[in-house]
Amino acid sequence: MRKDTQCIHAGYTPGNGEPRMIPIIESTTFKYESSAAMGDLFDLKAAGYFYSRLQNPTCDMVAAKLAALEGGTAGMLTSSGQAANFFAIFNIANAGDHIVSSSTIYGGTFNLFQVTMKKMGIDFTFVDPNCSDEELEAAFRPNTKAVFGETIANPALTVIDIERFANAAHAHGVPFIIDNTFATPINCRPIEWGADIVTHSTTKYIDGHDSSVGGAIIDGGKFDWMAHKDKFPGLTTPDDSYHGIVYAEQFGNEGAFITKATAQLMRDFGSIPSPFSAYIINLGIESLSVRMKRHCENGLKVAQFLEAHDKVKWVNYPGLKSSPDYELAQKYMPNGTCGVIAFGLDGGRQKAEEVMGHLKVAMIATHVADAHTCVLHPASSTHRQLSDDELKACGVLPEMIRYSAGIEDPDDLIEDLAQALDQV
Ligand SMILES: *Cc1c(COP(=O)(O)O)cnc(C)c1O
Repeated sequence: MRKDTQCIHAGYTPGNGEPRMIPIIESTTFKYESSAAMGDLFDLKAAGYFYSRLQNPTCDMVAAKLAALEGGTAGMLTSSGQAANFFAIFNIANAGDHIVSSSTIYGGTFNLFQVTMKKMGIDFTFVDPNCSDEELEAAFRPNTKAVFGETIANPALTVIDIERFANAAHAHGVPFIIDNTFATPINCRPIEWGADIVTHSTTKYIDGHDSSVGGAIIDGGKFDWMAHKDKFPGLTTPDDSYHGIVYAEQFGNEGAFITKATAQLMRDFGSIPSPFSAYIINLGIESLSVRMKRHCENGLKVAQFLEAHDKVKWVNYPGLKSSPDYELAQKYMPNGTCGVIAFGLDGGRQKAEEVMGHLKVAMIATHVADAHTCVLHPASSTHRQLSDDELKACGVLPEMIRYSAGIEDPDDLIEDLAQALDQV
């Protein structure tokens, strides 16, 4: 099936007389005929459901749809994008380990890595996604366990060179984990370019309607854990909490990563979405390919309008020819990037807040990447605690407005911006 068809059909095939739509299986527990049958589930000898803190059929149907869309071999939903990125790293890195990460990543992920996971004993080295090969090489240490980046970074909108980062990771015997939230599998499938693990905040385009917070992890199934046995003991040596099973042996490269993340991390942290949230996410995915086309068309039209406007000092949109990442965007996302644009006016912080106050269609919201056009001034909200110098260091200028083009009529979005710019 092609991607547009997978959006509708992957992950769930109703049998004769069964519900057309994926059923919401709102049940904490599942019934078995014997204790022995249930024991096999607890030993991971048989596949099945026993408790919805670990796995739920509705969540799994949606995870399977996302895995199909990304071209992966296994997937799982998490209760948020934060949980997805935390699990993806913590599944293979322990205290004393190290990760190489792109420096232009979502602020929440940066905080998770730099503050919270650091407290757990995991160190991160941040590299500019456009750094030289020497700088990238120098970031690796003997205890490095993964490389991390975002396809299109939120909010810096840099595009990562997936092949280059994947090759660097593989040369050091570790996987490349990529957060594909802004591109979505409709515009880019990182696994096809060499990435190993894909994560998502489904809260953004995948849900797409401002409705439910969620995340996902998809395994490409190609990373050979056993070939790097010493680096990944959690996958390649016996798990005492499951009677000594070895994930990479029992579930192969296709299934080991997600099975371990479910059996250990979901069991212990319980960051699973409700079946109802999974159902909402599935509704979002059904129209994902149609919506992404419109988000990209609107994003490009708005970016071109802003670039031609004399009150606008700069526009950053990877779909614009003036973007330093235009070539990379064309290579990895020839059909469009996303609907998110960053721009700045002369007059700094104050002018940014002023123009935002005059917008009528675009709403001020701490959100991005959904059907409703919204705007945010990072310097006075998500990045409020940072000084102007710190803002510049993470690619967020004080005057920067993050504009997320929804799926409204583009003429209404442009008229709205025109009247707001006229007033400042
Ligand atoms: C929003 C976001 C996250 C965090 O996701 P939540 O669902 O809000 O927890 C992670 N990565 C990127 C790129 C995001 O935009």
